[in-house]
Amino acid sequence: MTESFTGTVPTVGDDAPVVARFCPSPTGNPHVGMARTALFSWAFARHHGGRFVFRIEDTDASRDNQESYELLLDVMRWLGLDWDEGVEVGGPNGPYRQSERMDVYADVAQRLLDAGLAYKAYDTAEELQERRDAARAAGRPSGYDGLHRDLTSEQQAAYEAEGRQPVIRFMMPAKDWTFDDLVRGPITFGAENVQDFVIVRANGQPLYTLTNPTDDALMGITHVLRGEDILSSTPRQIALYEAFAQIGVGQGFIPRFGHLPYVMGQGNKKLSKRDPESNLLGYREQGFLPEGLLNYLALLGWSLPSVDGVERDIFTLAEMVPAFEISRVNPNPARFDLKKCEAVNGDHVRLLDVDELCVRLAPHLQAAGLVHEPITADEHATLTAAAPLVHERISLLTEAVAMLRFLFVDEDAFSIDETDRAKQLDDKGRQVVGAALAALEAIGETTEWSCATIEGALRVALVDEMGLKPRLAFGPVRVATTGSRISPPLFESLELLGRTRSLDRLRAAL
Ligand code: GLU
Repeated sequence: MTESFTGTVPTVGDDAPVVARFCPSPTGNPHVGMARTALFSWAFARHHGGRFVFRIEDTDASRDNQESYELLLDVMRWLGLDWDEGVEVGGPNGPYRQSERMDVYADVAQRLLDAGLAYKAYDTAEELQERRDAARAAGRPSGYDGLHRDLTSEQQAAYEAEGRQPVIRFMMPAKDWTFDDLVRGPITFGAENVQDFVIVRANGQPLYTLTNPTDDALMGITHVLRGEDILSSTPRQIALYEAFAQIGVGQGFIPRFGHLPYVMGQGNKKLSKRDPESNLLGYREQGFLPEGLLNYLALLGWSLPSVDGVERDIFTLAEMVPAFEISRVNPNPARFDLKKCEAVNGDHVRLLDVDELCVRLAPHLQAAGLVHEPITADEHATLTAAAPLVHERISLLTEAVAMLRFLFVDEDAFSIDETDRAKQLDDKGRQVVGAALAALEAIGETTEWSCATIEGALRVALVDEMGLKPRLAFGPVRVATTGSRISPPLFESLELLGRTRSLDRLRAAL
């Protein structure tokens, strides 16, 4: 049996310049868990004045795709998580797409074989299954039993003559593995639980088990932050680092690892990539602000330290960076709460000034076909006047689109919500609309058409003269002119809509 070496490779020191990374696989739509990992790694790098590497792990041609790759870049840019090295920006350790680094992995695998640190294994799937079942039945660990560790070259040749294609397995040194997790503290995996594992498939395809630590080593990554779901691969990666030091791959140190807590969704089940609330692009479409979403993602396992006993959960990235101590990350599962996420976003909407709010709203109005691209000067003026009316009332930008539709929609495309029409524009409602029309016709030609004159006229006609309660008085007018019971404040809305359009809509409702 090849002797297991016992490496004495040091773990990276606390004073080493930090290099952190985010290295997703481009499968499917970018999801919330990914963004949380990216954010924490990014904040960690920035907190320590270090470098942030963005690498793409696309070695599985059957699952990875270009569209998903582009979406990942798009989402990282939208979130504003910039990287110092990586795809598109380049850097000294490129290329940063694993699909372009296949020769690197082939070389490392070969060197591991040559050094006797890995070996070819010829077991068929059925043989492996049989032995696993037997091990389970006997109460032994069911991982690989090492049967092909020490095949002679004759035995190997005989398997090859049978037409078997070998996988390459890394030979785990027989020892326990302990590391000091940045989030969870010391963790030990017993030797019996970490068996020899496959690093290259029979078809020659290198696996995550090899490519990820190889690149982390070659790119000088000092701190690996990632989801708890990968915790079990860490002892294997540490073993590989020890092997790398022997064959001269990397920089001769083992990185620190930190495993971020699970994110739980509905019903206290782990949030899955496939859950609708996982889909990051959905957040952008619904009008989340990147700063709002990032703030909420930061709260999935972390919080700003309280100041004088005061907790604060609304903060910006600029505030997060200096405060981001990894030791504050809570190892317990975090709960994803969509309502809270929306509320946090609403608070960030409130933090924008009106001009900035208009900038953020414009693409959503454009997507709804309500303003031109680029927005015209007239539309911009209307938006600037209208934005303050929705500023306090929305959590998501798309809510503003719904509220402001009445203002931007072409007159022939204006319509009234049918449920609201049924409720508000019955006989009684139309009577109110008729009175409002008469009152409003009287203003605006010689007097000014303004919020104050509109309010004055409607109060006299509907509240004083008809004796209606304000809610009953203004509901029908609101539905007739804005198309919905949910709109910005009525008098301001009518002022912005203008006299002609307001009166036309009241007439049409009759
Ligand atoms: N490509 C891996 C993933 O997306 C990276 C895991 C890691 O950070 O090591 O799960």
